[in-house]
Amino acid sequence: MSTVSDYFGSLVFDDRVMKATLSADIYQSLKKTIDEGASLNNDVANAVAAAMKDWAVENGATHYTHWFQPLTGITAEKHDSFITPAPDGRVIMEFSGKELIKGEPDASSFPSGGIRATFEARGYTAWDPTSYAFIKDKTLCIPTAFCSYGGEALDKKTPLLRSMEALNKQALRILRLFGNTDVKCVRTSVGPEQEYFLVDKEMFEKRKDLMFTGRTLFGAKPPKGQELDDHYFGVIKPRVAAYMADLNEKLWKLGILAKTEHNEVAPAQHELAPIYSTTNIATDHNQLTMEIMQKVASKHGLVCLLHEKPFAGVNGSGKHNNWSMATDTGINLLTPGETPHENAQFLLFLCAVIKAVDDYQDLLRLSVATAGNDHRLGANEAPPAVVSMFLGDELTAVLDAIEKETAYVGTEKTVMKLGVHVLPKFTRDTTDRNRTSPFAFTGNKFEFRMLGSSNSIACANIMLNAAVAESLKVYADRLEGAEDFETALHEMIRKTIKDHKRIIFNGNGYDDAWIKEATEVRGLSNLRTTPDAMIKLLDKKNIDMLTAHKVMSEVEIHSRYEIMLENYCKTVNIEGLTMVDMARKEILPAIGGYVKELAETLATKNAVVPGVTGKHEKTLIEKLSVLSDEIDTAISELEKALVKYKTIGDVTEAAAMIRDEILPKMAELRVPCDEAETLTAEKYWPFPTYEKLLFGVK
Ligand code: ADP
Ligand code: MG
Repeated sequence: MSTVSDYFGSLVFDDRVMKATLSADIYQSLKKTIDEGASLNNDVANAVAAAMKDWAVENGATHYTHWFQPLTGITAEKHDSFITPAPDGRVIMEFSGKELIKGEPDASSFPSGGIRATFEARGYTAWDPTSYAFIKDKTLCIPTAFCSYGGEALDKKTPLLRSMEALNKQALRILRLFGNTDVKCVRTSVGPEQEYFLVDKEMFEKRKDLMFTGRTLFGAKPPKGQELDDHYFGVIKPRVAAYMADLNEKLWKLGILAKTEHNEVAPAQHELAPIYSTTNIATDHNQLTMEIMQKVASKHGLVCLLHEKPFAGVNGSGKHNNWSMATDTGINLLTPGETPHENAQFLLFLCAVIKAVDDYQDLLRLSVATAGNDHRLGANEAPPAVVSMFLGDELTAVLDAIEKETAYVGTEKTVMKLGVHVLPKFTRDTTDRNRTSPFAFTGNKFEFRMLGSSNSIACANIMLNAAVAESLKVYADRLEGAEDFETALHEMIRKTIKDHKRIIFNGNGYDDAWIKEATEVRGLSNLRTTPDAMIKLLDKKNIDMLTAHKVMSEVEIHSRYEIMLENYCKTVNIEGLTMVDMARKEILPAIGGYVKELAETLATKNAVVPGVTGKHEKTLIEKLSVLSDEIDTAISELEKALVKYKTIGDVTEAAAMIRDEILPKMAELRVPCDEAETLTAEKYWPFPTYEKLLFGVK
């Protein structure tokens, strides 16, 4: 039997394979492109394409595809086979440099937010050599960016790569100021922890809501939920364990560093975390991971739910985006250093993040805004919709001492002066970790916890990288012109702490008192819903920042605004229609059937045992009849609202209407339906209950 180290990455055209299959010259040129972004000439591209094809064919591939990430949030692929007819009637397998570098999918059905008129429907895909090609389903997948003919990004990868470049550029300026000349580039790294639910496939298929929307739109609370906390880190059930083992093997073959897996808080909820990697690779890998999680589940008779809130009343699923900045020489810029000089540099990068998170709270919030995630943020499980940062008591005390120029009461009782004192060691304390903070410092990285489980991590990292690049730019502009570097540095760090300490909060983020303090005293924004958040993308300060760093053009920003809101509207509209359908065609008839049985029982009792009250049947018949009327009214109300929604052309207006009318009407319909479920005999209920879904997988 082969071991993991034998097959790890076996389906990836990685550095090892490149070295083995390319000539030394070609390999060097390709490396230069990967590491430094140098452009590839035709000969090199042809040689790489030929080697890739031979390797892919040897490993069973028959097709290739430019694999990309359109704004739908999932990945797209269009397969072409390698076959080319040969004169003797046979075929040969061919793949040219041109086909590797550029593709032209007919992509008119991908959302473009008005960028691309239909007469110029074709976009093009361009190879991203920094992310390795891989084989999936007998197809060589080439990671690519997706753009319009005008060059506007139609995907999530392009702005992500641009944001990484923006941060690199500004971080290098800062490092040079600290006398560092050997670092060639600064990259951000991400380790995304992925939560998900597993439910039985047979049960899943009996529920239209799960099938059409990924979440349950009805469902009464089961007698047992997550209150005993007996699932968290609990023993993994055999079916789930088999699934995880299979999943790991598939991911490892694709070079994905799947590392930890455990049961989460809610029943049927689990988590998978990879070892961190460079942000664009982590993003590609997370997209692949989500896809493969779903595929493997199906093989095991399971369905993997990636929705942020599949079940009311139990925890939803998120994604923790662990983020740091590191140099190509291997230094994590968020690690406190050993010397006063290194500490000063650490503090400056730390302050850059603090300033970024405070200045661009709204961008961070909207980067995770979806209809699904709105159910989570602000509920009693995920961070609130208010963005704040956790630094821990020790680091906060250090910053406080710097700001006030007072003694830091830590190990040394001295006035903290940058460039003179060594910082205390911030060892990561696992016992006292703040799990309620949206943005927590965890020793040498930040953990951004607001992402929804189905979100592409690209969006959050685009905004985070861009915002930090902006802070670093402000610092570099100031420091490069400073007469005395040390003094300017000290003053700037103090000023950042003073101006931005309102964003630092080490307490319980779930507490209502915090939301009050955050909004009323500190002036932090509380953008509760997707429409509330998305509109901020169009604020001048945000457009100015994103365009200044060339992360997105104004046209791209507007198109993304449209697409995200359109997506919100369509998602909720489908949910509304599904509710109407289920309530009318399944729930009302089920209640009717049970009421009929009750009536028959009552008649029998009356006939056989004259004088019996039949109280039980009468009460139930009455209650269920009243509920049926309520359901009927609520269906009509929701239906009316859905018709009205269709008449609204403007996406901003439509989204507001969804938030203010459709969602409340959906909630109104759910109440009597869930109550009826608790009163109706189990055999009449038309689809599997929460109890069966949450505890059904053994
Ligand atoms: P938890 O937050 O559940 O305690 P870990 O501390 O093990 O989990 O790490 C969570 C994730 O953070 C993992 O994906 C890990 O690889 C990643 N991680 C660790 N160090 C860094 C770093 N310097 N930059 C980015 N991600 C990191
Ligand atoms: Mg975590």
